[in-house]
Amino acid sequence: MGEPGQKSLWVMTQQQLDNVAELMHLDPRIHAILRHCKRVMEVSIPVKMDDGSLKVFTGWRVHHNLARGPAKGGVRYSPTLTLEEVKGLAMLMTWKCAVVDIPYGGAKGGVVCNPSELSDGELERLTRRYTTELILLLGPEKDIPAPDLGTDERIMAWMMDTYSMNVGYSVPGVVTGKPVNIGGSRGRREAPGRSVAICVEEAAARLGIRLEDARVVVQGFGKVGSVVALLLHSLGCKIVAVSDVKGGIYNPQGLNPVKLMSHKRQTKTVSDYKEGDYVTNEELLGLPCDILIPAAIEGMITEKNADKIRARLIVEAANGPITPEADTILRDRGIFIVPDILANAGGVVVSYFEWVQDIQQFFWTEQEVNERLRQVIKRAFGEVWEVMRERGVDMRTAAYILAISRVAEAIKMRGIYP
Ligand code: GLU
Repeated sequence: MGEPGQKSLWVMTQQQLDNVAELMHLDPRIHAILRHCKRVMEVSIPVKMDDGSLKVFTGWRVHHNLARGPAKGGVRYSPTLTLEEVKGLAMLMTWKCAVVDIPYGGAKGGVVCNPSELSDGELERLTRRYTTELILLLGPEKDIPAPDLGTDERIMAWMMDTYSMNVGYSVPGVVTGKPVNIGGSRGRREAPGRSVAICVEEAAARLGIRLEDARVVVQGFGKVGSVVALLLHSLGCKIVAVSDVKGGIYNPQGLNPVKLMSHKRQTKTVSDYKEGDYVTNEELLGLPCDILIPAAIEGMITEKNADKIRARLIVEAANGPITPEADTILRDRGIFIVPDILANAGGVVVSYFEWVQDIQQFFWTEQEVNERLRQVIKRAFGEVWEVMRERGVDMRTAAYILAISRVAEAIKMRGIYP
């Protein structure tokens, strides 16, 4: 992803690891292990297209580190996907699972394709073949995929079915983010957005930001951004701008996210919504606000636009939305950032709940899911906050210190094989 010449997500995540490793005097042997991915599987996926032709797609599944448990992470379908992006996202999953203390290692996968250009049949055949090619890696005790950009519940259902067909019996715990009637968890769909909103509450309380009438800008009105907008609106915040790939809409008096959602369902975009002024995504990032939620894709806030941002608090809903250079600029400008690996961890936390429910065949109410999610995120936020204060660092560095030390401890206890 990103412009030519821009560093890949893998290089950025490695750099972040290097910086924190130095700061925390991490054992160089553990550091060396963590700079690499444990395993990378590349697969080619032949698909019979509807017009009778055959197209071969490329896919990957990457395991970054499994010291703390089975591999966990989403599957991304994107036309610009690269192995470097998947590796970077896999490393982020290792830290994400560790910082919220759930028993998984980090993984990610994906296929280079544009799902919006594929028919339902093509998408299903691609998904089933991709799953079959990965079958050696997958299993509820081994590797549990989930949705990410470009994938959804339906794709998870096909993955679960394909795996089950191959082994000969139903295995709901092999993927998470499934439809509820085949073993999905209540609350999973809203979970990443819900954890972002919980982090906004936690940060605002500590920073003295009043949520009533706080002005919020949300970049990206998709599966995560729209839920964040709805939840923050219900807490009394004023959602002054939202956007999607086509551009955004700004109204300093506040927008109604419920109406925006139904508008987006009809016209497929929020950018042509009438009750506000059109802004580009770039302009949106520079709007005056109290809270900015980058909920689109990685690398949106760079050294080129970081000095334009006029927010007090940024809570990262997307994975890797701020480049390391931009992070430094924002930090120097005194803008408080809650990092992705903590803020959007709700997705994988409720994935964990889903996996536990599938294994036990005992399902929870939505209220139980949401309460437990709040407990996990509140506890993790508090722990990261403490590290931040003790070590005199920023929230991202604190989250990394906590995550890396948990993973390092697991590696040390297990020892290096053989
Ligand atoms: N794709 C999501 C993420 O980046 C969820 C992963 C999962 O639930 O395993 O966190």
